[in-house]
Amino acid sequence: MQSLGILGGMSWESTLSYYRWLNEGVRERLGGLHSAPLILHSVDFAGIAALQKSGDWDQAGRLLAEAAQGLERAGAKALLLATNTMHKVAPLISSAVNIPLLHIGDGVGVALQSRGIKRVALLGTRFTLQQDFYRLRLVEQYGFEVLLPDAEAIIELDRIIYSELCLGVIRDVSRQYYLDCLAGLREAGAEAAVLGCTEISLLLDPGNSPLPLVDSTAEHVRMGLEWLLGNDRLNRQLKTNN
Ligand code: GLU
Repeated sequence: MQSLGILGGMSWESTLSYYRWLNEGVRERLGGLHSAPLILHSVDFAGIAALQKSGDWDQAGRLLAEAAQGLERAGAKALLLATNTMHKVAPLISSAVNIPLLHIGDGVGVALQSRGIKRVALLGTRFTLQQDFYRLRLVEQYGFEVLLPDAEAIIELDRIIYSELCLGVIRDVSRQYYLDCLAGLREAGAEAAVLGCTEISLLLDPGNSPLPLVDSTAEHVRMGLEWLLGNDRLNRQLKTNN
């Protein structure tokens, strides 16, 4: 296996899931003492979050592009950017390195397609929901209809992500808020919901959800595992996209 680079720490609470699930996936498939060859650059998220808040995406992109170059120099042969929100600057990062960036939106898009879903609800940070970079990838590259929570709900979903989940705080009242929001989106016609923020799976149990869930963290990890274990379909897709 070749080394996979992870640009993480956004937040480290969800980077832990990546680290665990990638290693568990390799062990399940190869057995014995096999584990995932990973190189992690974990940022101080406070700085990135401040740049998001002030709208300085270019500076955030430059910092992550430098980190990606470091991962490439360290021997990574592909990259996972372990956050949905920062995929806003994925083009900047991709153009700074000579290795493929496995885009989280493609992991989600392929998972939705394979389940035959057409109308999907999207949950995530206010940046992911209110800006075009993520939603439009699902609409334009995959042809899904994407339903969003209302403006008031977007603010509360976002607050729960940054003020609770990214700090490792899990509260029943917040779980219930997410479940109520999912129930409303089902009423509006969604067939499934994308957990388009890598921390939401820390809060929700798919067994209790009013809608089938597609977890961006799990699908991104699946992409990473396919790359590590040499899946032909993924490699063909990367050749076409890069
Ligand atoms: N991990 C989150 C995401 O997937 C939010 C933190 C961030 O802003 O990167 O969008």
